[in-house]
Amino acid sequence: MKRIAIDMDEVIADALPKHVTRFNQLHNDNIKIEDLNGIKLEDLRPEFQVEMKNILLEPTFFQDLAVMEDSQEVIKELNEHFEIFITTAAMEFPTSFTAKYEWLKEHFSFLNDMNFVFCGDKGILNADYLIDDNVHHFKRFSGKGILFSSPQNSNETGYDRVENWQEVRNYFIN
Ligand SMILES: [Mg+2]
Repeated sequence: MKRIAIDMDEVIADALPKHVTRFNQLHNDNIKIEDLNGIKLEDLRPEFQVEMKNILLEPTFFQDLAVMEDSQEVIKELNEHFEIFITTAAMEFPTSFTAKYEWLKEHFSFLNDMNFVFCGDKGILNADYLIDDNVHHFKRFSGKGILFSSPQNSNETGYDRVENWQEVRNYFIN
């Protein structure tokens, strides 16, 4: 069985809208998701990079994120044909471990806990495919990177791109 590694934030967990809303609340700003076309939130307001990271370090930030549309059904289906691992660079936000684990147990309980990988550098992963919204993680990954569309990566080229989970399904299941 081939292995598919799947990122969490912006791939199965809708983190960006909450991050933007929280930042707007705290800093009385009015950033919209459309403003992030091809640009990262931290590059849009570079003077607030520390504050933006601090929002993600709040221990409950990742607890109540919305599930990306169709991700549960499609992963359930892929799970019959592939070995599925959820691989998150949780070391970027060490305070997130408990919330991320509980979120996975709540929404992806059909996967085995042992297939949850909380890592740092995704170059260590040994999988055939990595579905991720951050091209940075493809650089040292030995398998094939599949870019999951997010406003912030709209300008990236050079990777197979999927717009949503139905496209992921079509990519892997004919
Ligand atoms: Mg991500």
